[in-house]
Amino acid sequence: MTTGYLYHEIFGWHDTGTHAGLFPSNPLAGLQPLQHFENAETKRRLHELVVVSGLIDQLTRLAPRKATEEELLRVHTVEHVERIKAESLLPKGGDAGDGLSPFGAGGYDIALLAAGGVITAVDAVLDGVVDNAYALIRPPGHHAIAGMGMGFCIFSNLAIAAKHAQQARGVERIAVLDWDVHHGNGTQAAFYDDPNVLTISLHQDNVFPPGSGRIEERGEGAAVGTALNIPLPPGTGDGGYLHAMNEVVVPAIDAFAPDLILVASGFDASAMDPLARQMVTSEGFRSLTSRIMEVATRHCGGKIAMSHEGGYNPVYVPFCGLAVLEQLSGATPFTDPILPIPAGFAGQDLQPHQAELVAAVRQAAGLS
Ligand SMILES: [Zn+2]
Repeated sequence: MTTGYLYHEIFGWHDTGTHAGLFPSNPLAGLQPLQHFENAETKRRLHELVVVSGLIDQLTRLAPRKATEEELLRVHTVEHVERIKAESLLPKGGDAGDGLSPFGAGGYDIALLAAGGVITAVDAVLDGVVDNAYALIRPPGHHAIAGMGMGFCIFSNLAIAAKHAQQARGVERIAVLDWDVHHGNGTQAAFYDDPNVLTISLHQDNVFPPGSGRIEERGEGAAVGTALNIPLPPGTGDGGYLHAMNEVVVPAIDAFAPDLILVASGFDASAMDPLARQMVTSEGFRSLTSRIMEVATRHCGGKIAMSHEGGYNPVYVPFCGLAVLEQLSGATPFTDPILPIPAGFAGQDLQPHQAELVAAVRQAAGLS
């Protein structure tokens, strides 16, 4: 098994500045300046653990290229692209759209490299250069919609890569699994009326965007049934996530029979994350990866490309990401020294109210 791995140091230079974690700092409102939650550390430390653990020697390095404007415009409006480009020239940069998504000077070019990085990963998989690939990119992308960025995202990286696969590479059917703890609203929106792209989002119920990612969101027109949302209750651990995977994600993708699988891989469903309340461990992420690889083997020769999204605990994200990369590449696992703590949390097993939610999704999706 050969696994493509894509990272570039400049992803760490995407400058989200000082924030009070989430909101712009404002002393008059009591919001003391701090780093933005979406800062370079989680991704940089994941990359450095990939190097220090020795896993890097078993991966095939991929070099990202910038996405072209034509590629961006398959998902985004001209106005959005032009505004980001113009604000990127300002001495202090700008914001992608919602006031929560700042970027520094030069941010446009880094965002182009992030979107282009996912395209690079997809091309490497489609060309057979590697069996599967992981693009460790920044800024993230899955919240950005056609006319604006939001939720720390500037451009919808994975959606742009999926449109590339469809329009430039002739891939007919694509399944997208988003296991970031927040709803993959931007990816869903980009394909809401496209019956050839199945979008599945596993997320914590009603976190971000507010009210988004309900079971009832199923796609529109000819694409009804090709959007699938699994809004898990807070407190869901490895048992609940695997149950959702086995009962909904795997059968839905089996029924769809894709030619390519893309994964929006966030690690903010981890037990240690400051921005959500789920309890997934590194072993949980390893199991999710194993399951999606089995499905990919059945339908598309194992072709999977993953795009990094959120995950905000700088100590734990690296171990979650390492587990995914080890599973993708078949490498011998490096020991996660933190694992015993979250693995020992009460409620890691499937809970009855989680099973009820999964059963409701199965019914709504016609899987029962
Ligand atoms: Zn997230």
